[in-house]
Amino acid sequence: MARADADTPMMQQYHRLKAEAGDALLFYRMGDFFELFFEDAKIAASCLDIALTRRGDEVPMCGVPCHAAESYLARLIRAGHRVAIAEQTESPAEARKARGSKALVDRAIVRLVTPGTLTEDTLLESGSANWLAAVGRAGDDCAIAACDISTGRFELVACTAQELAAELARLGPAEVIGGEPLAGIDARWGHEGFDSVAGERALKRRFGLADLDGLGSPGHAELAAAGGLLAYLDATQRDATAFLGLPRRVQRSAYMAIDAATRVSLEICRTAEGTVAGSLLGEIDRCVTAAGRRLLGSDLAAPLTDRTAIEDRLDLVAWFHEEPIRRDRVRSALRSLPDLGRALGRLVAGRGGPRDLASLRDGLGGAAELGRNLGAQALRPRLLEALLPALGGHEALTDAFGRALVASPPLDAAKGGFIAEGFDPELDMLRNASSDGRRAIAELEGRYRESTGVSALKIRHNAVLGYHVEVPARHADKLLAADSGFTHRQTMAGAVRFNSPALHEEASRVLEAGGYALSLEQAHLQRLTEAAVAEAGPISATADALARIDVAAALAERAAEGGWVRPSLHDTPCLEIEAGRHPVVERALSRSGERFVANDCCLGPTDRLWLITGPNMGGKSTFLRQVALIALLAQAGSFVPAARAKVGLVDRLFSRVGASDNLARGRSTFMVEMVETAAILAQATERSLVILDEIGRGTSTYDGLAIAWAVVEAMHDEAKARTLFATHYHELTRLAGRLPCLSLHNVRAREWKGDLVLLHEVAEGAADRSYGIAVARLAGLPPTVVARAKSVLAKLEAGRDATGGIAAGLDDLPLFAAAKSPEPEADLLAEALGGIDPDALTPREALEALYRLKALA
Ligand code: ADP
Repeated sequence: MARADADTPMMQQYHRLKAEAGDALLFYRMGDFFELFFEDAKIAASCLDIALTRRGDEVPMCGVPCHAAESYLARLIRAGHRVAIAEQTESPAEARKARGSKALVDRAIVRLVTPGTLTEDTLLESGSANWLAAVGRAGDDCAIAACDISTGRFELVACTAQELAAELARLGPAEVIGGEPLAGIDARWGHEGFDSVAGERALKRRFGLADLDGLGSPGHAELAAAGGLLAYLDATQRDATAFLGLPRRVQRSAYMAIDAATRVSLEICRTAEGTVAGSLLGEIDRCVTAAGRRLLGSDLAAPLTDRTAIEDRLDLVAWFHEEPIRRDRVRSALRSLPDLGRALGRLVAGRGGPRDLASLRDGLGGAAELGRNLGAQALRPRLLEALLPALGGHEALTDAFGRALVASPPLDAAKGGFIAEGFDPELDMLRNASSDGRRAIAELEGRYRESTGVSALKIRHNAVLGYHVEVPARHADKLLAADSGFTHRQTMAGAVRFNSPALHEEASRVLEAGGYALSLEQAHLQRLTEAAVAEAGPISATADALARIDVAAALAERAAEGGWVRPSLHDTPCLEIEAGRHPVVERALSRSGERFVANDCCLGPTDRLWLITGPNMGGKSTFLRQVALIALLAQAGSFVPAARAKVGLVDRLFSRVGASDNLARGRSTFMVEMVETAAILAQATERSLVILDEIGRGTSTYDGLAIAWAVVEAMHDEAKARTLFATHYHELTRLAGRLPCLSLHNVRAREWKGDLVLLHEVAEGAADRSYGIAVARLAGLPPTVVARAKSVLAKLEAGRDATGGIAAGLDDLPLFAAAKSPEPEADLLAEALGGIDPDALTPREALEALYRLKALA
């Protein structure tokens, strides 16, 4: 494809396909390689670290061998690329026959590989769902249609534009697509099919429905999102069909609302660095199946709000918790089961092989046996009772697969050998014929050695000659003789090769029978796959039931390991935790041989805002997060790391950490912090749980204190949510005298012989002082600097004592409620803050409001 051959048919074909592939990299099949050209080649070569060469001195190109293409694909996809696969759709021989000796082989894009549309095990993380999310809109309503085609899950969620980001954060999609761009949402826009009429039509066609009443009559935005999603699946999967179960409409009120910032701050399913290890999920996961791990991740991402549903999950965990033997048996049975959901996903997509069928056979068989064992046990909890029927009911399929397949079939169907002996008499006959032929050939070798007297004579097989006789060159004369019965085929260095009529005949028998046997096996594979696909719904249900049982047993295992307790759930907004612990910090400490200090928390309607002071490193953040995580675990249906826990159901969970002074996403982090704080003040309800850690830190002391002060007042008087507020602004403790439902707490520290001892104990009352200099010393600041800091501090404190300090006069401030009335002498900042309705603001207006706030301070 040098410039010289720019107009060659091949070049034209390449450009046509590349135009079709758009911004996806084009894998252009040439023989045993996928080749990339031009820009694609440069991108791929640098991403894959492979050699960039040139074709005809001009065109940059690189290639990957087809047999290893998956691992290269995986790296490109992970790096954020999409790849269009252009396969040869005919063999060179077919092309020549049809269009002459110089004919170009036909090629077509058979699939667009994108992060959200993967099904291959090697390309997927086994323990995480792989969501493709499509964002739709109809007027002011928004919606997400999301699917994981590796397991067939399909969800529709209606929401407002403001809620979109939080919903996407719950799913953590691998890929987000949409039609018209929406501000603040990171997606690949400009896709087709995002229209409710097209969506309705596509859903009906896809699921063979006359109307959508059975799906709960999705709204226009949901239909638009579904339309875009289905169109995208068609565009990427081409001839294959993506595996989709019937869509489930998600009621957002059924889940605890957790926004994106809270997820990041609590490190629920991933750490801030993006790893599962070190997150809550990574710490509590004791699942023995990949499907269980995926379900646990989605449980933690979406804790429930319905008490009955949570109690059902807890009952099952408790059932496994109280009987270690029962738990061990179930876990060891589950451990040996294959990943049913993903095997089914590949079969439905037409990318399955014999091993996937064997996975269904083993998985469904194992599920049925587990169902029988569990069904024989006493006092089964309601959730288990509901799951049991889904474990069985596949006898016909497992029986058929059991008879049809060999014990461990090969991954690839191409060479056959996966259909068991005795399943199909015709296949057995062909296989016998072919093995008889091979035996006959072996016998022929013996006879030829005798008749020629050449003991080194061998019958060999290769791709070019097929079966042939080979003798060392020095014995060739005997066979070259005219009457020997052998025909000369090839002379090599040191050896000569021949054919013979008898060998030819046997070889044809072997070949023919082998070919028929192979196509018979393929036909069986096809039929068995169809049988599995016809049962896709019930098989998915079995996979889901197994995952649910795995999650419950795993949570019981984790609870037993850590001495966790079953939380009691209540409708009143309380949160009482005795000896609570942070599972991740506790684990980190135990690795270095340190002990975690358990702490209590007791929030209720009359004491709902805890203001927590104490030295840096004293354990404030840890305490805040552990309380939030305990509520989250409880509502996800898990036992919790505490001696006792009483959890009043939480509708929304917020966690914010004050900004330090680095920049994030181009906005100052202080700005981010204020926007997010505004969002909490707007959304938190009496049923919410809010943790605020050092809010107001990222600005000057006066600004920061003023904002923190106003936020605490607003939380107390307006939102009335259960709130933990950690701060190093000691001055805020003055609020205790003004706000009846606020109480003071501190993480204890002591100075002992000049050393600071952090006790990590949460106690009542305000911290006596800040210990900042002691912490600095603990951190290794040089003694001279510490000494100097001490004398500066002494000066400052003397000044403060003389003037009353920076908070002097705050005690005279009118109450927050009064301050909100437009009195001329009111605190302008608190007034302005109170006057903001974040729901009504565009991001632009929010930014302007913040500038106004800053100007007031
Ligand atoms: P702060 O927010 O007050 O600065 P952190 O919560 O970040 O403090 O805690 C600092 C460190 O102290 C943690 O990394 C952990 O090693 C230790 N720590 C925190 N809480 C506890 C606890 N309850 N028991 C033992 N060690 C703790």
